[in-house]
Amino acid sequence: MLYPAIFGDDPLFPKASDFEVVYKDEASGKGVISYRALKRGDVIARMSGHIINDIRQHTLQISNEKHLFDPYFSGYFLHSCSPNISLDMINMTVTALEDIAENSYLYMDYAETEDHLFKQFPCSCGSSNCRGWVGGKKDMLHMIPEQVMLTVNS
Ligand SMILES: [Zn+2]
Repeated sequence: MLYPAIFGDDPLFPKASDFEVVYKDEASGKGVISYRALKRGDVIARMSGHIINDIRQHTLQISNEKHLFDPYFSGYFLHSCSPNISLDMINMTVTALEDIAENSYLYMDYAETEDHLFKQFPCSCGSSNCRGWVGGKKDMLHMIPEQVMLTVNS
């Protein structure tokens, strides 16, 4: 179990034999790897952690004023604009969006949970629909579409 015993013993909690927080590379830092092959649509784990009232580097947003601080598992999911997992912050579950081969990193879309990111950053996920910049879902509303920029500039 990746979570300490104080969080309980939910059978859906991630097992240390299936998942691990590992250092990926300098650009990404740490990420969560799955040693087990996962099937599309499967609930692959339940998240836990400390519920706090402020946003921090590795928190996940539950509601306007609640954030999950999980330094054991979900706080280290990497970002991709084509994620392979989806997070349900009400049921605290993680679902596979596609078949995931063993020894793969788990990627969420940070805009799925976050209204605003603790720190926005340029994206280099390499997917064909990469947004190029990673912000929360409300950060994106402030982005100026390219078309508007062209009109303003011309
Ligand atoms: Zn991207």
